[in-house]
Amino acid sequence: MNINEINKNWDFIIGLEIHVQLETKSKIFSECSYDYDQTPNTLTCPTSIGLPGALPNINQSAIESAIKFGKAVKGKISKKFTFARKHYFYPDLPKGYQISQFDQPIITGGFVPIWWNGKKYNIELTRVHLEEDAGKSFHNTKNNTSNLDYNRSGAALIEIVTEPVLIHPEQAKIFMQRVKQIVNFINISNAEMEKGKLRCDANISLSKKGSGKFGVKTEIKNINSFRNVQKAIESEIIRQNNLLNNGNKVEQATLTWNNDKNTAEIMRLKENADDYRYFNDPDLPPVDLDDSIIDNIMSETTILPYDYENKFIEEYNLTLNEASILSTTKKIAKYFESIVDSGISAKKASAWISTELFRLFNEKNLEFNSEKIPSESLFKIIKLVDEDKITQNSGKEILRKIFENGKDIDEILNSGNFDTSNLDIGSIISEILSECSDEVSRFKNGEEKLMGFFIGQINRKTKGKISHKIIIDELKKKLNN
Ligand code: ADP
Ligand code: MG
Repeated sequence: MNINEINKNWDFIIGLEIHVQLETKSKIFSECSYDYDQTPNTLTCPTSIGLPGALPNINQSAIESAIKFGKAVKGKISKKFTFARKHYFYPDLPKGYQISQFDQPIITGGFVPIWWNGKKYNIELTRVHLEEDAGKSFHNTKNNTSNLDYNRSGAALIEIVTEPVLIHPEQAKIFMQRVKQIVNFINISNAEMEKGKLRCDANISLSKKGSGKFGVKTEIKNINSFRNVQKAIESEIIRQNNLLNNGNKVEQATLTWNNDKNTAEIMRLKENADDYRYFNDPDLPPVDLDDSIIDNIMSETTILPYDYENKFIEEYNLTLNEASILSTTKKIAKYFESIVDSGISAKKASAWISTELFRLFNEKNLEFNSEKIPSESLFKIIKLVDEDKITQNSGKEILRKIFENGKDIDEILNSGNFDTSNLDIGSIISEILSECSDEVSRFKNGEEKLMGFFIGQINRKTKGKISHKIIIDELKKKLNN
């Protein structure tokens, strides 16, 4: 059964726990740094691998990053908070506990607005807390060995916990994309999922349609791509639906997402907060921030994706879809604005950017980057097309040339005979018409459908470089006398 079928009988209840790696110079409780993909075990220090006697120290810039996030989601920012030890055993956690926050997180509440099916949902957050990352283990099933890399051990994270308010797997994906967008906008994390800088645990339960009663939830750990968030939740909804429809119960469980098999597998049953034996870390005194730290952050201007979205919808009359695409990143939003500010209509700029320009980047699987095509160049192309000096097709061809060869737009314009404003289009068309005098006389005798034939001839002979509008105008002049 598919998800929407199941949704007719069951309400979906989803809560996410999202880990975001903060782009701080050093780790959260020590001075060594973390970087992705470096030689294993070269980025460590006594504190980050938990050697006896090594003491943690809180990184101020990690605190500031968390406050910036709290501000962006309009959460309550605590001046006073503590750190707690969360105990569990795993080889990539050499201390036997992770330093996290328990009952006094740095941020409580807040919400993240998302759009789903054309409607806005404010997704409420329970909390946002600071914590350290664990190392990485690599299990080699062929020869039954495991390798450990402690580079990531102690890297700075925030964990964002939502209330159980997401109602569809697709919403979960959109929410996660939104979190990435926000942390990018406020410059606290690049959040590249492919580098494990944005990871998600999804909690799922089903509730009899409209009953409002929560069912038993399960949790899928360590989901590492936007597509997989949706897929993992869908697969778990299907599993729970099968259990419930066959009269079985859903057992509280922790699952992991198996990418190869496309299913979530049960890792362990039952796991409650008390299993972790949380207690305040005696090595880290309670934090009491200077008011100025919070005040400074609160007084900075912060631009968020929805500020652009609202502006583009209200001031430029774009649709929600157009506005969202153009607000994906700050770079894109600024690029779009600079073209509009130079005098191109918002609709036209939006169409060129989100179709022609993005197509080029998508084909090469690259992120948008204004260096490949400066906004001045795209502005010039749109303007030339607008003024019928070049055709839409020439515009696209020029855009591609700039993208592929990094050439200057004027150089391309001069070398490719694109600009037809200096051509004597009138005599070129007369010449072409004189080569098909038969058709011309048939046209004059009433065979009006030959118009298409003339346009085709002219396009072919001028390689599509003369604007459709100009061709029609000229043909009308010439054929009507
Ligand atoms: P735990 O103690 O198991 O970590 P929490 O109550 O702290 O559980 O919630 C963890 C996550 O699970 C949160 O994102 C929360 O929204 C979500 N959650 C809680 N109850 C449910 C439920 N019945 N169905 C789905 N998600 C839930
Ligand atoms: Mg949990």
